[in-house]
Amino acid sequence: MDKIKMTTPLVEMDGDEMTRILWKMIKDELLHPFIDLKTEYYDLGLKHRDETDDQVTVDSALATKKYGVAVKCATITPNAARVEEYDLKAMYRSPNGTIRAILDGTVFRAPIVVKGIEPTVKTWKKPITIARHAYGDVYKATEMKIPGAGKAEIVYTDQEGNETRELIHDFEGPGIVQGMHNVEASIRAFAQSCFNYALDTKQDLWFSTKDTISKKYDHTFKDIFQDLYDSEYKDRFEEEGIEYFYTLIDDAVARVIRSEGGYIWACKNYDGDVMSDMIATAFGSLAMMTSVLVAPDGTTEYEAAHGTVQRHYYKYLNGEETSTNSVATIFAWTGALRKRGSLDGIDALTAFADKLEEATLETIESGTMTKDLALITTLKEVNPVNSEDFIKAVRERLESKLK
Ligand code: NAP
Ligand code: MG
Repeated sequence: MDKIKMTTPLVEMDGDEMTRILWKMIKDELLHPFIDLKTEYYDLGLKHRDETDDQVTVDSALATKKYGVAVKCATITPNAARVEEYDLKAMYRSPNGTIRAILDGTVFRAPIVVKGIEPTVKTWKKPITIARHAYGDVYKATEMKIPGAGKAEIVYTDQEGNETRELIHDFEGPGIVQGMHNVEASIRAFAQSCFNYALDTKQDLWFSTKDTISKKYDHTFKDIFQDLYDSEYKDRFEEEGIEYFYTLIDDAVARVIRSEGGYIWACKNYDGDVMSDMIATAFGSLAMMTSVLVAPDGTTEYEAAHGTVQRHYYKYLNGEETSTNSVATIFAWTGALRKRGSLDGIDALTAFADKLEEATLETIESGTMTKDLALITTLKEVNPVNSEDFIKAVRERLESKLK
């Protein structure tokens, strides 16, 4: 069989610890044998980030802007212990934070649904993708403890020095206040990413806030989404047969639980923080969550939602056998290859991505899976395997599919 040719490079961001080990196994076993893999390689491993004063992270994000598609391995976000462990020059920012700031994107998290790993919510048949707005609100709030009786106000001063005031509360005794903000440009970028991703994945888009209570703040979110939908997306949504649906957050929660899944749920920053953990847990396993960063201009970066699986890596370094789940990392690659294939019109590449995903899911459905899934599966016949044997089992299935 001839290897599949690529025309535009994929931006490849290598990472840390156990996921770095899986990364190489996936490339060696599941990609190189079948594809003339064309990537622009950036080593975001912590050692190399330190050697380049983190410039490599910035460069990888700029390359993503240039080429449009990236695939990223999980990386360490250094804390004090890591600074010591790796003898770092500085406590660098989270690479995901740096990349997101440069691409101005929204993160979409979706579970990989497979027979034998059943969601806690019995009606869920298809994945629910959470889109979380990643700027402002309570995450950039200013807070104050009010010591005793007195008036708290919000004051806006325009560039000419004119003041506008609103009373927050006339306190009779001690209390608390919080001032939070958002900016229209960020909300619009969020809305754009959501509409684009819905079109890209042909799924309905739900959006929810509490606009009945928050008549200016949350209502602005609702209005920006609706205006953008009416002016730029309505026709394309109708062509694709998908829907944009707005509802109150409490109504959304009730509908989500009763639903079959199969849509994107856009949430404000705090709602997205809470709901993404709820959805991930209820679908079964963090190791089966994918994560996609989508910029308003359509630039896309794929990765697994989990971290570098540090505990398994230390076992691996000790020469012990590991059973680390590579599925979300495999799906990061298939997502990126499919996107590259569709942008460049290379059908063989998109078809390969589909087959690799099928081979991975069928391997699990046949009972061969890593230990984390073996512990929660409803399948009766289970063959728990180590990290390497799982990938080899996927390769066997993939080969027979490609014949
Ligand atoms: P983690 O790597 O997600 O792992 C936490 C635990 O979850 C593991 O110890 C393991 O449980 C289980 N787990 C997660 N992924 C798994 C997989 N693929 N297969 C099997 N089990 C899996 O989180 P962490 O250990 O808290 O963080 C490690 C490093 O990752 C940190 O330095 C953090 O900064 C980084 N991180 C990076 C990203 C990213 O790059 N996107 C995201 C989150 C965290 P058991 O040990 O019980 O088997
Ligand atoms: Mg959280």
